[in-house]
Amino acid sequence: MEAMLLEAFPQRVVENIREGCNCETCRSLQTQLEGISWRDVPKEFIRSNDWVLPLLSHEAYLAFLPAWLRQGILEPDGPNAQMLLVNLRHEPDTSGFTSLQAAAIIDAAQFMVSSSKMMSEEPESMENIADIKRVWSPIAAQLGAPADVPASRDRG
Ligand SMILES: [Zn+2]
Repeated sequence: MEAMLLEAFPQRVVENIREGCNCETCRSLQTQLEGISWRDVPKEFIRSNDWVLPLLSHEAYLAFLPAWLRQGILEPDGPNAQMLLVNLRHEPDTSGFTSLQAAAIIDAAQFMVSSSKMMSEEPESMENIADIKRVWSPIAAQLGAPADVPASRDRG
């Protein structure tokens, strides 16, 4: 699963991390993510910043989303996974994502839900997944993408 993210999302350094805001949180985001690519974002930072994705510039969102995805995969029962699903469902600016990336996002979201004890039993998780597919499938289906995104299997 992590290999899939590494393949889909290139390691990229971003200069404009934040969306112009100068508050303490956004400044600390800038300091933390400046000069590194997503693979090097410390896990502890993501754990304590599970809600900050909407504060990132779009360029930074494109570059660093996989760091949050990876953390959600590693800790599907952690707070990050749930926040991430909500973000992917409600707030994404999907422009600039490749078909491979969109497919990886859907796969990662399904993996998080099916491997989380908590989320796999919540009806809201199913709604999250349905909405995430609605948002990201058209991008995953663009030319060059795998024609079929594997459907989730309930292993209950
Ligand atoms: Zn701010």
